[in-house]
Amino acid sequence: LVRLAKVTKSFGDQVVLRDVDVDVYAGEVVVLLGASGSGKSTLCRCINRLESIDSGQIVIDGKVLPEEGRDLARLRADVGMVFQSFNLFGHKTVHENITLAPVKIRGISKSDAAKRAHDLLERVGLAHKAKAYPAELSGGQQQRVAIARALAMEPKVMLFDEPTSALDPEMINEVLDVMTELAAEGMTMLVVTHEMAFARRVADRVVFLDRGQVVETGTPAEFFTKPRTDRARDFLAKIL
Ligand code: ATP
Ligand code: MG
Repeated sequence: LVRLAKVTKSFGDQVVLRDVDVDVYAGEVVVLLGASGSGKSTLCRCINRLESIDSGQIVIDGKVLPEEGRDLARLRADVGMVFQSFNLFGHKTVHENITLAPVKIRGISKSDAAKRAHDLLERVGLAHKAKAYPAELSGGQQQRVAIARALAMEPKVMLFDEPTSALDPEMINEVLDVMTELAAEGMTMLVVTHEMAFARRVADRVVFLDRGQVVETGTPAEFFTKPRTDRARDFLAKIL
């Protein structure tokens, strides 16, 4: 569903992604691991075209991601993204946060958007917070709203970039639970996370990035118990 082929990206003279090949098949959960600065966020941002790439190709649902234009907007709408910082509109209610983009960009009716928002809030356990403002919610609740907001666009794939890193420990699981459920429902997901228990349990495949290169890819069982490269072994030794 998502294919990166020989993607290279530099900032100035620093190569941040080098010949990166990554596939995420429909219904698959791929967890992207790597040390700080290895290029995980940049990779996610390239898929959403928040960053341009220097060479290579990104294909979403069979279509090459273009530089700009209406096709880009359409493909981008198929990619939901959830960041470490929740990025909700602070002056809008939870309900408005979720209904705004579907009405504006997808062109669905306000009443349909409202119905969807209600269902999504129920799914993330926050139906009672529809009228609240983001500042009135805990971090975990805000992140669950951010997930509901991304899902409201009916994306084909969801990107998560360290969705629980800014959360207090007791709130991490409520967000991971929502993600686990989403995965079980068959959502295609690319997830950057430091939650190794989640990666082991939920990932179909792990991709390990080191200094902008894919060094290893495999099932969580393979990667966590029998890493093939020294770099992966070093990485695991530091975090486990
Ligand atoms: P972390 O685990 O800390 O989030 P990461 O794997 O997400 O790290 P990136 O944020 O993708 O890493 O950054 C990769 C490299 O690119 C880093 O060396 C960073 O300094 C550099 N970089 C990222 N964004 C920019 C930018 N806008 N301009 C210049 N350099 C950047
Ligand atoms: Mg990052």
